[in-house]
Amino acid sequence: MTRQCDQTDSKEEVEADDGEQKWKVGDRVYALWAGNSCYYVCTIAEVREKDRKVVVTWDDADTSHRTVSFDQVMRPSDETTAWSKSRIERRATVRQTEQKGRCLFTNEACEPGQVVFVERPLLVALPAVAPKLWECLQKLHGAQPLNLGTVTFHFAALVSVLTLDAADIGVIRDKYVPDPDEEPNEDVTRILQALQDAPCELAKEQISKLDGKSFQRLVSAWRYNSFGHHKEDGLVLYNRISMCAHSCDPTCCWSYGDEDAFVLRSRMALDKGDELTISYLQDEDLLKSTAVRQQKLQNWKFTCMCPRCSLKVDVGRGVRCQRCRVGILYPQATNASFELCRVCGSCPPSEDVAMLLHMEEEYVQRVDTLDKKDLEDVQQVYQAALDIFENHWILYVMDTILWEGHRQKNVMDAMEHQRRRIDFHQHYYFRPTFILAWCHEELGDCMMVQFPARKWHIVQEFQRAYQMLAVLCGSTHQYTASPYNKLWQVSNGTSNSAATNGTTAGG
Ligand SMILES: [Zn+2]
Ligand SMILES: [Zn+2]
Repeated sequence: MTRQCDQTDSKEEVEADDGEQKWKVGDRVYALWAGNSCYYVCTIAEVREKDRKVVVTWDDADTSHRTVSFDQVMRPSDETTAWSKSRIERRATVRQTEQKGRCLFTNEACEPGQVVFVERPLLVALPAVAPKLWECLQKLHGAQPLNLGTVTFHFAALVSVLTLDAADIGVIRDKYVPDPDEEPNEDVTRILQALQDAPCELAKEQISKLDGKSFQRLVSAWRYNSFGHHKEDGLVLYNRISMCAHSCDPTCCWSYGDEDAFVLRSRMALDKGDELTISYLQDEDLLKSTAVRQQKLQNWKFTCMCPRCSLKVDVGRGVRCQRCRVGILYPQATNASFELCRVCGSCPPSEDVAMLLHMEEEYVQRVDTLDKKDLEDVQQVYQAALDIFENHWILYVMDTILWEGHRQKNVMDAMEHQRRRIDFHQHYYFRPTFILAWCHEELGDCMMVQFPARKWHIVQEFQRAYQMLAVLCGSTHQYTASPYNKLWQVSNGTSNSAATNGTTAGG
């Protein structure tokens, strides 16, 4: 497999250098309000180069904490608008690695929640870009379903050919695919044939020049490197971001900025030279066992060797010690045995091991087929599973169903399941995730209704949600503004200027 170590982009962007930020009077910016360390919208009223500070006028006319140092001021667009290619390149480097091919590394140390870079899409392939083509593919898919189960990958490959220049198509062709020499499969051949026979007003020239092998390569490039669009049935492809390898303990997290820009943030403190990784799996799948994660990652045709997948013992698959009923046993990665019980020191005999693993398999399948609306059934399976398992991801899955099922009418039970979700998340994967942040926020919501007097506890839940969301999507994002406003309400009664302030900042 020959892959270039770095790829030259087609469009060299001419954009201002991002060296030292120059502020001037009248600039509209976000600045840190020392009252609560959140960023708010304001206008610069005075620039003091000597002590590197600005004086700002807050949009809500608050008169406190108006002097802010340079590094606590940011352009509103800095966190949401795509950076220039050269600025991204100063921040992150693509390097060939021995085991994983090309990967992405940071050139600078990053604090948790810091923006690593913001990248614009190479192409957003939505049905509206080529409606006739979309319709045509849907018809083919309807007549005989495509093996990928959707037309989006083939559609995106064809849209690339129709809308991009040769250099940009080259960038896509350069993306990772498991087999660069893949022969055109049945679907690719069929689509190409259909388009050449009845081109439904498509740009016939580009399509007729497309050979099966090139088409196949583009389809695979989209399949292994694109992201589902966050609003519509379509795909988005990024250049630098697609060099980000997967990890089940990713060093980065991401959210969407303006015009489908990809905002990459560090999820934890990073040193210069650390690898930038994201999770190809959804947050909830990061809470499933190593075996389940590995199986899901087969979609991308690789075996994950991340720190979590390399652990000798899987602590997301706990079973109760059958002897003392107090200790929890965790299986070895090899699956043939359990660790010793830390309470009674015993180890189940091999026939028990086989029985436990068999039962676990049965429960995994049972949980997979649960009907979320049949709460009584879920409750029964849950009750029976509690007898055998503890700190097990299948309990987490059922806690989630039961939390959602009970939150309207049976808040007390719902809260208990929510607490158990938080406990498991923290036990198995203790990093900020949207799931964990929202668990805390929702628990805070319930507390406010059920136990309004436990102010310290409510504040704690909203604070945790706020802090995690600030890392995940920034302190000015609307997700983050939500727990922040609740926090303020709980601490200061119900109405105040900061609540409006928070809304502004989150917009
Ligand atoms: Zn992994
Ligand atoms: Zn024991």
